Amino acid sequence: MQLSDERIQEMKNLLEKEHGREFSWKEASDAAYNLAGLAELCLDSWQEDQRRKKKLEENPKGFILDGVGYSCFICGSGTQKDENWYDKWGIKCLICQDAINRKEIPPSLAKYKDSWYTKYDLERAFKLKGKVLNSWIKGGILKARVITNRGKGTHYTLFLIRDNKGFLPPKDMVKGHMVKEERGDDKNWYTMHPWYHFVDPWEHLKDYKIMNYMRFPEENPEEKDFFDSLNLSLSENNFDSRDPILKRKEFNNKRNKLLKELVKERGAKCQLRLLEQCGKDLVVDHMIPLSSNILNKDIHKVKAEKGKKVKAQSFGSNHKDNLLIACEKCNNHKKHRFIMKTKEGKFKIV
Ligand SMILES: [Zn+2]
Ligand SMILES: [Zn+2]
Repeated sequence: MQLSDERIQEMKNLLEKEHGREFSWKEASDAAYNLAGLAELCLDSWQEDQRRKKKLEENPKGFILDGVGYSCFICGSGTQKDENWYDKWGIKCLICQDAINRKEIPPSLAKYKDSWYTKYDLERAFKLKGKVLNSWIKGGILKARVITNRGKGTHYTLFLIRDNKGFLPPKDMVKGHMVKEERGDDKNWYTMHPWYHFVDPWEHLKDYKIMNYMRFPEENPEEKDFFDSLNLSLSENNFDSRDPILKRKEFNNKRNKLLKELVKERGAKCQLRLLEQCGKDLVVDHMIPLSSNILNKDIHKVKAEKGKKVKAQSFGSNHKDNLLIACEKCNNHKKHRFIMKTKEGKFKIV
């Protein structure tokens, strides 16, 4: 492509007017060629688009696009030669297209990306991943769609908002924003900050059930301080954010077995020892309670709805690390309260 001197002069005038300084011929010519290159690219892709649309009219069910370098609008993987499918919903890899044909997922997902979350979206928006995410899926808290590899295994997992209505918010409510950052030089630095840096997460998403399960520990230094102050050497084994009703059911089903195992491992005595005189009958106690509204009350300052108690948060797990053998007397005395360890290594109610 060759640009005439006239065109370059035109660019030079434009630049000088826009920036209020003189531009050299080389600067103007570089800028003009860049712009022309960009325009050519746009024209190319527009023409390509038109060609596809025309071909689609002749093949309304879709067709394979020539060449390579496409990526699937659903799973994002790059496609090999002839391993793509193009139709009115966009470009799909053959595995995803096969999943559509077998009705594992609706075709509209390719076009409407905001109608579903990827695993990465969930991690970015809610720090939800790994074991916790899997337990939510297993426990039926979150409904996942699995794109299988032609009927076998997992190619891609995603989460439709309409499958999780009232649970997952619209994606634009949990979009991050760029924030300008000072680094002591005069350059402009920008970093991405998650949505919960800008709003109170519980207020912002109060209409979405996911918040009943959510905790943002690193965004919640007070919660972290509280748990640190208990002096209980806690790990992630002690916590499980699933619905307390579910955890309670699970616990009731295996409490007898658990008690036997714990007694075998730790001996038949009360580990709680909150009272002077322990009783004889032993039960299993949760070190971190399955649920509690104490932090909501004292730290998050959540107000109760009329005639109701302050909403409880889900905390403790049924993991052995979170279980203690307790005599019935100490257990009844503790109720659902938190305990901490004193310097002398004894438990005390908080
Ligand atoms: Zn795909
Ligand atoms: Zn006891």
